[in-house]
Amino acid sequence: MIVITRFAPSPTGYLHLGHVRNAIEVWNFAREHGGKVLLRIEDHDRQRSKPAFEAAIREDLAWLGFAPDAEVPRQSERDAAYREVLSGLVAQGLVYGCTCTRAEIINSHYEGTCRNLTIGLRPDVGWRIRIEPGVELFDDLRIGPQQQDPSAQCGDLLIRDRLGNWTYQWAATIDDYLQGVTHVIRGEDLLDSTGRQIRLARLAGRPEPATFLHHALIMRSPGKKLSKSDGDTGIRELRARGFSREDVTSMALHGPPR
Ligand code: GLU
Ligand code: ZN
Repeated sequence: MIVITRFAPSPTGYLHLGHVRNAIEVWNFAREHGGKVLLRIEDHDRQRSKPAFEAAIREDLAWLGFAPDAEVPRQSERDAAYREVLSGLVAQGLVYGCTCTRAEIINSHYEGTCRNLTIGLRPDVGWRIRIEPGVELFDDLRIGPQQQDPSAQCGDLLIRDRLGNWTYQWAATIDDYLQGVTHVIRGEDLLDSTGRQIRLARLAGRPEPATFLHHALIMRSPGKKLSKSDGDTGIRELRARGFSREDVTSMALHGPPR
């Protein structure tokens, strides 16, 4: 099997140390396994994505020396592919329209309010997929065996919002499937999404799920996670302050200067 992984930034902000940590893990994994890295621009959220962020991300990646083996189409160009996969699920009666607002959804668990209301898949409503109860088992390459029940975690999954944006869960899952991604390497803050993505991929017809590795996040100090709001983690700023590529790589592995 040829290992194919991906680096998939959202152009909704600048590159920061968290991205760099992820890039290091992705490229190292690919190198160790004789695999390839795909670059995928995840601009599924058309309101928040900006060309200026994308340009800056590319520039910072190049400065850091991360060169992808191939680039796949950006998510905003994948409407036809997402619709094509969805049509199979629509034919099985698994998709419905939802008019609930975010405020009505408590603790990010959707209670299925619109499940039986037969609201059509209109462009101005959310689209959801029925998620039946059941556990997804997977073996994370770093953290070990996991079990998650997506129905208990979040209920029926939103795959397209009322603004006509495909959601991260849907776009990333369908892309990982159709682009032949065998290994998803990402931060452990996304561990909770994995059961959902495995379920969605199966519903979409993926014969075998991808393999997942969730790496540790950078710590500011022991036990304290780094957040974007820590402010000094932007690669632009660090470059402007005179840090070298080696300095930035080391911060991404061991934490920023205190
Ligand atoms: N675009 C997502 C992010 O930047 C990618 C997450 C993933 O690797 O699945 O958080
Ligand atoms: Zn609803």
